[in-house]
This record gives sequence, structure tokens and C-alpha cells, in this order.
Amino acid sequence: MKKAALWLADFVGEGEVFTKDELRETFPGVSQIDRRVRDLRDHGWIINTRSEDLDLELDEQRLVRIGGNVWVAGYRSPIKVNGPSPKQRQEALTSSNHRCMACGAAAGEPFFDEVLTIAKLTVVGSPGIGWIACCQRCKKGESLPSSKAEFLADYSLLTISEKRVFAEWIHADVRESTPLDRAWDQFRRLTEEERPGALYIVEAEVQGRRGRYSA
Ligand SMILES: [Zn+2]
Repeated sequence: MKKAALWLADFVGEGEVFTKDELRETFPGVSQIDRRVRDLRDHGWIINTRSEDLDLELDEQRLVRIGGNVWVAGYRSPIKVNGPSPKQRQEALTSSNHRCMACGAAAGEPFFDEVLTIAKLTVVGSPGIGWIACCQRCKKGESLPSSKAEFLADYSLLTISEKRVFAEWIHADVRESTPLDRAWDQFRRLTEEERPGALYIVEAEVQGRRGRYSA
């Protein structure tokens, strides 16, 4: 990849076109030289093929931009940063109770203000905090701003005990999970065999209460 990068930078140049044949002639016997060139895209290089640039012929590619100087000793890619390890990822998801740390959206559930979109969580690095769970909207900065009026409309519907929990969240600057949240999450993770039994308990209790109230 380093040699291919040097050749592209020195002999092709930005804005210029090269062909697969030229690559193979320049690097005879290097297997997968095409792939080595494609890998440069992970380092900020922009290399277009006919699918991005219709002026090109099928076997042509254009070096649009020279990216990271991969041939320099000790070079580190400006783009490809190391993601979280599987353990760090799991810890971030567990500690946030599988919710976005910014907006509280739960993984696999629709956004409350965009019911046709399901929240997917990724784990992103946050300076000073470490790895945190973040939904696709907050990651892109696309979460819709709210207004004080909207906030008060929903806040006024909370019970006193919910308002107490809410105040605790504000002080902790994080949405801590409540027994209600945890029960919901546990229920969703039950196996298919266990779910009917749990559902029976829930339904029996709710219906029992309904019966009592109506009596
Ligand atoms: Zn979010």
C-alpha cells in the first residue's frame, strides 16, 4: 500500500487518471494491488471509479485527493481511529441501560418524536468521559430541538414520584434506570419459553386491579 501511495502521489498526481493496467505494470507480481489502492480510502485518499465519475472508462480511476502520507515512518491514520474493544462496547451499553446517553432513546424502540424510526445505538468516544452509547440521530447531531412549552406539557403529566426521579436524573446528569425501566428491559430479554409465564403474571395483576376498581 505504501509503494502504491508513493507512486500515485509522485507519478500520477491529484486530478489525474490511471488505469488498472498501469498499476499492474508498475507493481508486477503484487497480488491484490487493486485492493491495496482501495485501502488508501481509509486514510483520507479520494480515488474515484466510473461509479463516482462518469467521465472515466471502466478500467480507469482518478486520484482526486492525496490523503494521509502512509509511507512516513510512524504514520497514524487521521481517519481510522481505533473503535472500542468488545468489552468496552458492552460496558458502555450496560452502564447506559441500552439507552442513548444524550436523548435517552432505547435501543430497538422507536423515537418518541419520530415513531417510524427505530433507535440504534453505537458506542462513541467522548473526550473526558470515555466510551458512551449514542443513538444514530444524536451521533449525527440530528436530534430535534425541544421547547420549554413542549417540555412543560409532558412534565405536567408526571406523578409526584416521577418528578422526584426526574429531579434526581437532572442532578446526576444521566438518566438512571428505574425499576420500571429495568422490568421492561428484562421482559424484552426473556426467552420465548419464559415470556408467556411473565405475561400471565402481568395480565393477571392488571386485570385483578381493574376488577377491583370496577367493583
Ligand atoms: Zn440520542
